[in-house]
Amino acid sequence: MNIYRGVSNLTIALCPGSFDPVTNGHINIFERAAKMFDHLIVAVFSNVRKKPFLTIEERLDLLKKSTSHIENITIDAFDGLLADYAKDKRADVIVRGLRDQKDFIYETSQMLMIKHMAPNVEMVYLMSEQRYSYVSSSAIRELVNFHGDIKGLVPTCVENAIIEKFKYVQ
Ligand code: ADP
Repeated sequence: MNIYRGVSNLTIALCPGSFDPVTNGHINIFERAAKMFDHLIVAVFSNVRKKPFLTIEERLDLLKKSTSHIENITIDAFDGLLADYAKDKRADVIVRGLRDQKDFIYETSQMLMIKHMAPNVEMVYLMSEQRYSYVSSSAIRELVNFHGDIKGLVPTCVENAIIEKFKYVQ
């Protein structure tokens, strides 16, 4: 049973991703989606990369800390198929951020497969704000690898956790 919907007709949105690590681009999408829908579930794929940068526990912890200002949000992890997870959570909508044509092309096939498996779940795409359109988790990992400056690209708690974990000097 879904604890958010109860007997009323609340709209539940789902923001899935690997968030390895969560960036200010992701946070911007969460803030905007949380305003549009009654409840937002941010769900971390726990079965993607074999050698993750941050563990699932670290990612969940940082997501919780960096979204503590958003009231109608839940942070969760899942493995298996996104369509099954969305049905299980009784999500009405899956929200994805779009940075560029590459994201658009990737999302087109993803969207068709999800609609095939969960026809009642609607897909909603939010265009990235220009100031975040070049920010990606993979770019952050690359910057950390070569000791580049990540200030302003990720929430402060993420920056501190990365400095601590990787003994990282910018
Ligand atoms: P990334 O692509 O950075 O590794 P994820 O796989 O965790 O991130 O992506 C989760 C969702 O967030 C996807 O819909 C992705 O397009 C979106 N997203 C990632 N970075 C940004 C950004 N800077 N602005 C808007 N949306 C973004």
